Amino acid sequence: MSPEDTRIKLVCTLGPASATPKMVRGLVEAGASVFRINLSHGSPEDHARSFGLVREAEAGSGRALAVLADLPGPKVRLGSLDPDPLRLQPGQRFQLRPGGPGDARGASTTYPGLAGDLREGDRVLLADGAVELVVTAISDGIVETECLRGGAVSSRQGVNVPADRLALPAVTDRDREGLARMLDLGADLVAQSFVRGPDDVQELRAAMGDRQAPIVAKIETKPAVESIVGILGVTDGLMVARGDLGVELPMEEIPLLQKDLLRSARAAGLPVIVATQMLESMIRAPRPTRAEATDVANAVLDGADAIMLSGETAVGEYPFEAASAATRIAREAESRGGDYRAAAPPCRHTGEAAAVAHAAASIAREHGEAAAIACYTETGRTARLLSAERPGCPIYAFIPDEATRRSTALLWGVTAVPARTPADTDDMIALMDEGLRERDLVRPGQPVVMAASSPAGRTTTNMLKVHEVGSPVR
Ligand code: PEP
Repeated sequence: MSPEDTRIKLVCTLGPASATPKMVRGLVEAGASVFRINLSHGSPEDHARSFGLVREAEAGSGRALAVLADLPGPKVRLGSLDPDPLRLQPGQRFQLRPGGPGDARGASTTYPGLAGDLREGDRVLLADGAVELVVTAISDGIVETECLRGGAVSSRQGVNVPADRLALPAVTDRDREGLARMLDLGADLVAQSFVRGPDDVQELRAAMGDRQAPIVAKIETKPAVESIVGILGVTDGLMVARGDLGVELPMEEIPLLQKDLLRSARAAGLPVIVATQMLESMIRAPRPTRAEATDVANAVLDGADAIMLSGETAVGEYPFEAASAATRIAREAESRGGDYRAAAPPCRHTGEAAAVAHAAASIAREHGEAAAIACYTETGRTARLLSAERPGCPIYAFIPDEATRRSTALLWGVTAVPARTPADTDDMIALMDEGLRERDLVRPGQPVVMAASSPAGRTTTNMLKVHEVGSPVR
């Protein structure tokens, strides 16, 4: 079995543990099709190097591989601390200041305007939520707090405050600079951190100007959860960013919230990544815990398009083993998960393209022998809608544009195939027929369900055809 036989996609974060030609090739062999470059860490040179490694690996693999540039967003961080880490005790007073060195009495943050946004009584979380402070007073730009729950805090860790309070722009200067660099390199997908609502996504889209790339909105704040319908109307995909989500919301709400978000995104025909701590213990161990294996399998059964590894592949001791374990666990859940899988979304008759995709998947399902669904798509939209239907057979998406092919690397069950631009509808069917045969994807005589727009590329997805591969087209 090749990694391509796994229908859920694997996103691997690159970092010091994995940014070498050999390791990136290894991660591709282990099943990765999307590589996340996290702009919260590393230098511009590191990011450019990682980007180059993915393109090199793609050239050798014959598969479309995507780079996901993850922007830091309006995240507040602590400045430096001495000692580092610093242990805070319950009852201890601790200041959050606009500048200066950090010590047992307080620390600076990366957001000088913090004092203007917070109010007395607000909770501030440090160390991924482990340490809790309450604001007791604010004066002269200094936030006075008292520690309610103690623990160790380290330099540059996140400072979580109620997201709807922060007056920081959705797209910070640092985001704009990183975005420009990553778009110059040719990033295929852009992840937006700390989205609060649909306007934030629109702001990022405007910042991209005439170099648009699909946006993956990271759902990690309470306001984002509350405005998910609006966000789904403007984004190209979602990430259930469980790290910060588990700090911003009570931890016990995350499992069901994950299911809700997956269901909503699939109903909207958009891909979803489930991220963070999937195989966390593999940062230090060659095998995952049983609970982690179960978490990966449950993400498959919940209907995720992709699962993401973060520290496991960026800084862990076993990046290859983590990616291989994720693929093995996902494959087992896919092949034997049958009855436990989340139901497909209902047919959306309102949109012609979505209705055609639904019909294609239903025919493929009911037409027991359909070997595949093939589509010709210039924007990737038909592939996305077919993927959201989660058909039982492979989806081969014939796409002329290389960047669009790469962006489908995130879509569940989709394999992108290079294609020329067809002269007319018959030619479009012929090129899919040829491509399937020449690449040994489907054998002559096998039925394939085809979905596309006719005339090619000039209308919405409106054509559905059951075609016997190798049979005359005209
Ligand atoms: C998360 O918080 O889960 C996440 C994916 O974001 P980051 O890794 O950038 O903190």
